[in-house]
Amino acid sequence: MDKRRRREILAKGRPGPYWPAEPMLGGWYTEEEIEAATKSIRDSMDPTTVGFGFICSEILDFEAAFAEYCGAAEAISINGAGTGLDMAIMCLDLEPGDEVIVPAINFRAAAQAVIGQRGQVVWCEVDPRTFNMDPADVEKRITPRTRAIFPVHMNGLSAPMDELLEIAERHPHPRHGPLKVIGDAARAGAGGYKGTKIGAKGWMTVFSFHTMKLMTTLGEGGAITTNDPEAALRLRGIRQLGGRTTDGAQTTK
Ligand SMILES: *Cc1c(COP(=O)(O)O)cnc(C)c1O
Repeated sequence: MDKRRRREILAKGRPGPYWPAEPMLGGWYTEEEIEAATKSIRDSMDPTTVGFGFICSEILDFEAAFAEYCGAAEAISINGAGTGLDMAIMCLDLEPGDEVIVPAINFRAAAQAVIGQRGQVVWCEVDPRTFNMDPADVEKRITPRTRAIFPVHMNGLSAPMDELLEIAERHPHPRHGPLKVIGDAARAGAGGYKGTKIGAKGWMTVFSFHTMKLMTTLGEGGAITTNDPEAALRLRGIRQLGGRTTDGAQTTK
């Protein structure tokens, strides 16, 4: 498009060459949900109840329901996907030089979580039809230092999990075994995959319930699903800063 034509279009108020941002979409709530939120605020002022406290029954009920919905053994609720991605990568116990494969096109949070744990980000190509990780390119980027494959599910469209899990099995790390597949599903809550839900497969899947995402918990929120009971226990520990890991079960101080 020539410059004059572009100026004409801009003058008419059409979208400019720079995408301004995503629209600031808010959440949508039923009266029942508004009442539940109001009740939680009231409860939190009562010194004899937990209110928003650490692990209240609302959180435990929600975790059980979300895990069941996703088809995962466990769901750990968190305050946002950014935190959840950091927690997931912490559980890899990366050593200097360890590599994690991340899609070169998508939101930056996955790569930042790897950098945050001093890991080496290894970018891979995305499939131009889906913008999801291209498994053939992932396979080319595996080295003896690769620890994990970190797909970012594209806006409800699942990454090719079966192919990625198969590659992870076929190229085990010399000491840690099969590569871990960790999903950033911040924008993919409730997305499907071959008759299952996103969050059922892989080592861990991280969801966001921020106001702008598909399902929201009013402002901030998120969850991590996993089928690995040890990983779940560790995530609960990290969430509570090393304190109680489940309701009533104080494993460490
Ligand atoms: C929004 C988003 C995040 C961060 O989620 P928060 O819950 O806001 O911390 C991470 N990854 C992707 C792909 C996102 O879209």
